[in-house]
Amino acid sequence: MEKLQFWCSHLSLAHLIWKGLVQPGDWVVDATCGNGKDCFYLAHLVGPSGGVIALDIQPKAIRKSQEVCQEPWVHFFCQSHEAFPSLVEERCVKLVVYNLGYLPGGDHAFTTMAETTIKSVKRALHFLQVNGVISITCYPGHCEGERELSVLRLWIHSLSPEEVSVAHTKWSRTGSPELFIIQKKSTKRG
Ligand code: SAM
Repeated sequence: MEKLQFWCSHLSLAHLIWKGLVQPGDWVVDATCGNGKDCFYLAHLVGPSGGVIALDIQPKAIRKSQEVCQEPWVHFFCQSHEAFPSLVEERCVKLVVYNLGYLPGGDHAFTTMAETTIKSVKRALHFLQVNGVISITCYPGHCEGERELSVLRLWIHSLSPEEVSVAHTKWSRTGSPELFIIQKKSTKRG
């Protein structure tokens, strides 16, 4: 396991939070597996008695993640996170991770989009177990990333404090990544 220096980056901070939450045997979802780095980290938190459900819209990203992450308890799906595979409904999911934006070093046309991300996060909030977490890293340094962040922020702030508890971390430099940690406190009634 890597040595964590959580003051250095949004990714180290996110990893530290996941580590505090996830136990061996848990089930987690990586909704944007990209180059597989987060997926690998998650696979080693849950271990062989748990599972990672990893999604990406790009076949290239799935191939790369499969190379990096060969643990048999990681289940890959090449599809948009707008809809989740039925496996998520069959498991008690503790963490759903969104590392938004585009594949580092890849085609910027395949960036996550505000509308599909919101749809996905709403669905994740529905199937997530109580006390489970949705972790969202936003990148406002590019045009769609900035729009996505403002749409997400508005929606997150509209959630009831009885339903969720929210932490929002941002770095001081303009355009720096922002991290939302949304913990589900109860199942919405009505
Ligand atoms: N977590 C990754 C890692 O550790 O390498 C980095 C993820 S990268 C910042 C964002 C990924 O989101 C890209 O690989 C992109 O293909 C993917 N993506 C974009 N739109 C998507 C969608 N609708 N559903 C699933 N993945 C999507």
